[in-house]
Amino acid sequence: MGNFDIDEDLSLVLTKFPKLELINDALFGVIDIFDNNDNYYSSYEVKIVIPKGYPYVFPSVYETAGRIPRIDNRHINDDEGDCCVCVLQEADIRAKRGITILNFINEYVIPFFANQIYYEANGKWANGEYKHGLAGILQYYNEIFNTQDIKLILKGIDIYFKGSIKPYEKCFCGNDKKLKRCHQKTFFELEKMSKKRINDDYIYLSLLNLKMKNNSIFHHYHLQMK
Ligand SMILES: [Zn+2]
Ligand SMILES: [Zn+2]
Repeated sequence: MGNFDIDEDLSLVLTKFPKLELINDALFGVIDIFDNNDNYYSSYEVKIVIPKGYPYVFPSVYETAGRIPRIDNRHINDDEGDCCVCVLQEADIRAKRGITILNFINEYVIPFFANQIYYEANGKWANGEYKHGLAGILQYYNEIFNTQDIKLILKGIDIYFKGSIKPYEKCFCGNDKKLKRCHQKTFFELEKMSKKRINDDYIYLSLLNLKMKNNSIFHHYHLQMK
């Protein structure tokens, strides 16, 4: 950890994945997917972009042959085939620690394509999934706050940003328990993320909250992912 050498990283990648080729700031080629017993399954044509902020920015991977249908359900973003290998919050948390291209391939790219093979065969995901895009943001916060109540989530994030977390007082959620025994763990989850990520999500959740309150006014307002 803390020791990142991009040249060493890329030379390891090219050794372990000889069907990839480095052109400028991206790797192009084929990733072969094997099962746990080293039996060959299938291959995907990819482009893996090495981010400018390496290793503290999450890399991106594209499926370039158009094998995976470009639909939300398959976690592909657009015609280019930008793969949604995990939710934005996890990407943020993982990048904060620093992520090599080799780790990115092993931890995210290969599981993503292995899951796509499973989906092709079974019409569903093996281990459940996060909803794609903006719906996935809400789902992520629903899970870490253990509530469907957006107002409560916003309140919790407010407290986090203000640094006014009081572990020995009653929890902000209205539960009779002390915060320490209630939503403290939610703050530990928030701490793993960058302020920028939480802030972007907060803005989205605020708009969503308004939209739900004034459904008629905001009826034609469509949020767009940047
Ligand atoms: Zn997705
Ligand atoms: Zn609570």
